[in-house]
Amino acid sequence: MTTGAPIRETTPLEERLIALIKSRGPITVADYMEDALLHPHDGYYTSQAPIGAKGDFTTAPEISQIFGELIGLWLVQSWIDMGSPDAFNLVELGPGRGVLMQDILRAAKLRPAFLDAAHVWLVETSGRLRHEQQRRLRDAGIATDWADAFADVPPAPMLIVANEFFDCLPIRQFVRAQAGWRERLVGLDAAGGALAFALAETPPLPNVALPDPAEIADGAIFEIGEAAETMMDEIARSLAEHGGRALIVDYGHLHSGAGETLQAVRRHAFWPVLASPGRADITAHVNFERLARAAFAAGAAAHGPMSQGEFLQRLGLAMRLERLSFGKSAEGAAELFAGAHRISSPAQMGELFKVICVSAPGLPDPEGFKE
Ligand code: SAH
Repeated sequence: MTTGAPIRETTPLEERLIALIKSRGPITVADYMEDALLHPHDGYYTSQAPIGAKGDFTTAPEISQIFGELIGLWLVQSWIDMGSPDAFNLVELGPGRGVLMQDILRAAKLRPAFLDAAHVWLVETSGRLRHEQQRRLRDAGIATDWADAFADVPPAPMLIVANEFFDCLPIRQFVRAQAGWRERLVGLDAAGGALAFALAETPPLPNVALPDPAEIADGAIFEIGEAAETMMDEIARSLAEHGGRALIVDYGHLHSGAGETLQAVRRHAFWPVLASPGRADITAHVNFERLARAAFAAGAAAHGPMSQGEFLQRLGLAMRLERLSFGKSAEGAAELFAGAHRISSPAQMGELFKVICVSAPGLPDPEGFKE
């Protein structure tokens, strides 16, 4: 059996995309990303087992149970801030293997009335991951439903969490070409046998908000997370109308600016974005400034972004670590410490990952974001 680095193989999705581009011309980076991740048969999330040591990447809830437990307590406090409604939707967007929700529900046992009031909604497109979520959560004893999209979750007061979900929503890319902005496309190489980046021949429509090309270096790339902004608009509208809060955690930047962040990862290493579509995870940094702006524009309030490390410290990471380590073997305690360090240290995930809270107007400042 061979192990080690994966090979760059031609995938069924790649063949289909090549045929499509041959007949209809290049596609946008957003269309490529969407197909590569979510194609119903050959998409990455649909067909692979992405998360964990045996997968391609790992995430904070998979590294330390403290992540989900602190967020669980944050949700309970938010429910109290909302006036302890006796029915609400507890929504997770892109729940992966269901570990975060499992830790949230365990921590929330502290307030049985919260669990009695909660109806869990998991927004997940992958049948494979849904199955895993179902298995992991079936003993939690709480009403749980699945939806393909946030828009399918019934309107109600909501508490929403999303960890590493916004980074996989498709982005568009624009290149500062000699003639001005041009959309970056996925076309074919000169031989017509492989996917290759190309540029649109005509300028983008005037409604695409791009900076003045005179102020941007030739060749620079500017990214727009249209799908993330649309998603934020839907969430913020729902919160403003029906009440509630959303906590969004992801890696990304605080301000808009030129620069490419689109990346692919396979077996815990970087991978060429256009190689073997459907076999690698593809993500882009989340633009928190634009997300906050979209939330305000839709009538909600936004707090943050704040670094994940600071947020977790403010919620009591050190105390929880001490409590959990009590009575553990030296080895067990060292493992807990290593996990907590990895999710909070600025040198690891603590600084790159950020947290933003979007609330219905009129709620008190959320825990962790108070002055
Ligand atoms: N939150 C999890 C997993 C992050 S991976 C964790 O922290 O471990 C991204 C998750 O989002 C996967 O469950 C993937 O299947 C799901 N996903 C990606 N794009 C989606 C979309 N457009 N709609 C719904 N779910 C999506």
